[in-house]
Amino acid sequence: MCGIFAVSGQEKNAGSVVLRGLKKLEYRGYDSWGVAIRNLSGGIEVDKEVGKISSVQHKFGSAKEAIGHTRWATHGGVTKKNAHPHKVGGVTIVHNGIFENYQVWKKKLNKNSFQSETDTEIIAGMLETSLVKKKEITKKEVAECIREVCAEIQGRFGILVMVEGVSGIFAARRGSPLILGRGKKETYIASDIPAFLEKTNTVNYLDDDEMVYIQEGKVEFSNLKTGALVKKRDIKVSWKTEEAEKGEWPHFMIKEIFDQKDTIARAINHDDKLLNKAAKLLQSANGAYFVACGTAHKVAMAAEYFFTEISGRKINVVPASEMTSFEKFVNKKTAIIAVSQSGETADVLEILERGKKRGAKILALTNVESSSIARLAHVHLPIKAGPEKAVASTKAATSQMALLFLLAFADSGQINFGRFILRSTAESINDLINPRYEERIRRVAKKIVKHPNLFIIGRKSLYPMALESAIKIQEVSYIHAQGFAAGELKHGPIALIEKGTPCLVLGGGQETVSNATELKARGAFIIGISPNRQDVFDEWLKVPDCNGAQAIATIIPVQILAYHLAVLRGLDPDMPRNLAKSVTVK
Ligand code: GLU
Repeated sequence: MCGIFAVSGQEKNAGSVVLRGLKKLEYRGYDSWGVAIRNLSGGIEVDKEVGKISSVQHKFGSAKEAIGHTRWATHGGVTKKNAHPHKVGGVTIVHNGIFENYQVWKKKLNKNSFQSETDTEIIAGMLETSLVKKKEITKKEVAECIREVCAEIQGRFGILVMVEGVSGIFAARRGSPLILGRGKKETYIASDIPAFLEKTNTVNYLDDDEMVYIQEGKVEFSNLKTGALVKKRDIKVSWKTEEAEKGEWPHFMIKEIFDQKDTIARAINHDDKLLNKAAKLLQSANGAYFVACGTAHKVAMAAEYFFTEISGRKINVVPASEMTSFEKFVNKKTAIIAVSQSGETADVLEILERGKKRGAKILALTNVESSSIARLAHVHLPIKAGPEKAVASTKAATSQMALLFLLAFADSGQINFGRFILRSTAESINDLINPRYEERIRRVAKKIVKHPNLFIIGRKSLYPMALESAIKIQEVSYIHAQGFAAGELKHGPIALIEKGTPCLVLGGGQETVSNATELKARGAFIIGISPNRQDVFDEWLKVPDCNGAQAIATIIPVQILAYHLAVLRGLDPDMPRNLAKSVTVK
């Protein structure tokens, strides 16, 4: 979580470059923002404020170097004092992650002068304490101190450091993402590519326990433990600037929902060789686990049905945060399939790191090639959805599903048949999503927006979609929504139904329709989402008939509904309270 960004160049507008880049990272955290510039006399000036960065207009003094942060608070409330950057003596720092043992060091340093309640300020304090012990302070000493201090940090971090009297910017990482962007005479470091994408698409990914020093166009990578210099390969990323912008759209969320007109077709555009390699990894395993969080976990649950039905393979699905209980079953013969949009999800990363040590084979699906999870995997399948900025995942979820569906066909030796089904699914989704369809759903949203509760039911792969629908509606509209397996209703949840309670019924199969009838008999207002209208539906949102890939089409109208529920309630669907994209903390 949190976005960090640094620039070192020859132009004197570093402050505003960092502010602009941070605005593109706001989806990573929006509690507060802050920028530190090195003014032309060498002093470091910090500006920070509580609140979202998107509307900030700020005039900075002339500077060739700056670092900045947009925060998702973990330690200490959302206050100006807790906002980054944190400055202790001559050291200024921004941080993404959690310094788990910071209390120990806070006591050790015994500084009464700490201004904030954050873990981050302690890192600045530690650096400053070790720097003042040095006879002279040059780049070499700063790098040494960063290595010493990082050796003491338990937890995950991505840090940017500026030191008064030493030009250039230092960055180091363990667990939190950091990507370097190479301009001609300037260099950028950010927690995600969109921050500098309009300037360059030539990047280097920092690995765990690596450090980098930048000054204008000069870049020096080194090992964070030994200090030894490290060589890195330049990578050209294929993201286009406009993909990371919302353009004419009012919000990223609705833009990304409409992006599904072509992202599903893109997701399955993989050559057979890679798909077969991934399938082989599963086939050579004795026991497989899907490990994922949030929406990706619901996608994995849908894929459990795909594999069961298509290739007859049973794959266990476990939320990453619960996987520790099952790790004793992980060994050389196990396959772990990680599903993560960002490829940086901390809970997933940790399970993969430990699983790999136990000899498990790792298959990963992510949206960010060269993300930490992608690099850790033995086989990586990129979902190719393009940047997803809204906190609520939409296009990444359907791309993950499409690719897993295809993988199940690869596993059964019928890739071409899988592709055929998915191509026609992608085409009918392209037809489906248009402004008229959106308006139809907006009108349905208007009818239910005042209800505090909403329930969703589905069967088979539409059961996980009922759970995913609940997440989508909760996270952006704050309406209490819950999803159930349709057959589970009469075992408890039906007691919640009152006259007028809105219920989404996913699918129009006979058994689901019977469950919908049971709900209606208790007064529920039934919104059916299926290829065919059913008498029991009070409202009907048509979706195409997509064979086994029905889950992919069915979630789309729910995404649009969730979006409009949020907008009708006057909320910003791109930045729901308490949430952030890319959960890089545990
Ligand atoms: N732990 C730090 C804080 O709470 C950084 C959180 C983040 O990653 O935004 O300030």
